[in-house]
Amino acid sequence: MSTSPANSEEAPKEERSQAGDLDGAPLIDSHCHLQSLESDERELAMDQARERGITGFLVPALHLDEAEDLLDFCHRHPDVWCALGTHPHEASEWREGDSERLRALLSDPKAVAVGECGLDFFYDHAPREQQIEVMREQWSLAIELNLPVVVHNRDSNQAMLEQLLLPEFEELQADFHSFAGGIEMGRELIELDCYLGFTGMITFKRADNVREVIPEVPHDRMLVETDTPYLAPVPFRGKANQPAYVVEIATRLAQERGESLAELAQRTSENFFDLFAKANEDG
Ligand SMILES: [Zn+2]
Repeated sequence: MSTSPANSEEAPKEERSQAGDLDGAPLIDSHCHLQSLESDERELAMDQARERGITGFLVPALHLDEAEDLLDFCHRHPDVWCALGTHPHEASEWREGDSERLRALLSDPKAVAVGECGLDFFYDHAPREQQIEVMREQWSLAIELNLPVVVHNRDSNQAMLEQLLLPEFEELQADFHSFAGGIEMGRELIELDCYLGFTGMITFKRADNVREVIPEVPHDRMLVETDTPYLAPVPFRGKANQPAYVVEIATRLAQERGESLAELAQRTSENFFDLFAKANEDG
């Protein structure tokens, strides 16, 4: 495999991982779609991540039909939790009664958040009005159940803010995963006490616009994530992503903030358990 130490020795200097030392600190991949890997690959990817010191994984659902499988998977692994919900790409699938169905699924101790849900006006796989309505139903449920939401937001800042600022969503606790919404949106979300999840995008050369917000994020509002299988960080860019690479992402985030990797890993892990508090209760 190209990620083995032998091969990385042969890689040109700029292709080598700059990963720092975790020094025993915990590190959690707060967003990885392990369900999109074949089951043997999935186990291997998790083992490789654990070998590098990754201590937890949050797997967000894309639609409700996979919820039972996801819960079964989480119950086989003490270090894996899931978010359950309907992704904006799948918003057309949402049926009458799905709110009830989701409420029942969320009673499982392994389901620690609602999501991923949100808006995607880049792909527009579902009509925008429907995306908004499906997101609203999931947010209302999250507030009712006192659970956080994992939010997907692409090219939809304005519509997203309109909803976020409504009094009915004042109590919403949100992880804006794979944050790349620009400095203005970042500031709005920080003002609203949202968490920002950073991916491998922060390691990309031409991503100053994604990195810009990093120094302004309060230390208790940052999360790190791979968004596996997408967005592999440098020096693995273009390959399939995997949770082990969250070390490269955390290393870069720490550099941008002038912190050690161990400090940043410890901090983002604490943030994870603060936001996804239900994960503390599950043994
Ligand atoms: Zn996702």
